Amino acid sequence: MYSEKGTRDFNIIPVEKFNQCISKKLGFGDWLELEEVEYIDPTNVKRNWELCRRKKKSKHDVDAIDIHAIIKNINSPQIILVVQYRPPVGKYCIEFPSGLIDPEESIEVAALRELREETGYTGKIQSISDPICYEPGLSSSMTRIVDVEVDLTNDSPTQNLEDDEWSLQVIKVPIESLYEKLQELQKQHSENLLIDSRLYTYAYGLHAAKDLLYCKANNNN
Ligand SMILES: [Mg+2]
Repeated sequence: MYSEKGTRDFNIIPVEKFNQCISKKLGFGDWLELEEVEYIDPTNVKRNWELCRRKKKSKHDVDAIDIHAIIKNINSPQIILVVQYRPPVGKYCIEFPSGLIDPEESIEVAALRELREETGYTGKIQSISDPICYEPGLSSSMTRIVDVEVDLTNDSPTQNLEDDEWSLQVIKVPIESLYEKLQELQKQHSENLLIDSRLYTYAYGLHAAKDLLYCKANNNN
């Protein structure tokens, strides 16, 4: 059952559902609420946690979508990213295009709308992920990753930004060298630029896979 001390094999993790209630409203603004929630753990201990929740509601099990917009129809595939100023960290961030789902929208419509507004591009949806949490120790906010193959017939993409997206710029980066390009950009602008954790993990995964798969291929020879 245990593969090493304290570590279980992945397929027998016990996960239980806990009834959780809001025990205190700690504060609120125009977009966000700060709450304290309460639940009883399996040993009957009452526990509390502080969290941040978005006020904007969607009918889905997630409140946002993140878009992997890939330009495939060229020799070296590229990914479309956005760079924007993020007041909570006081710096610009490189991120996937993303946004909140409007109350009556489907996931598909929200993804293509956000992609079009933020980057001017549109495309065809290839797949939609299960719900993914953003920062589960801090916030209830969740997303689905929508893979989009970009339509290249639109050769003059035009953004349609909201007022609070005043800083948003679009960049296209070759997927083959994504990890290295992100590192280059961060080195160039080290005082003022951060890489979003989801994007970093995606890029690092591609980078690490090259080594891991290369090792595997060599070991098999
Ligand atoms: Mg956005």
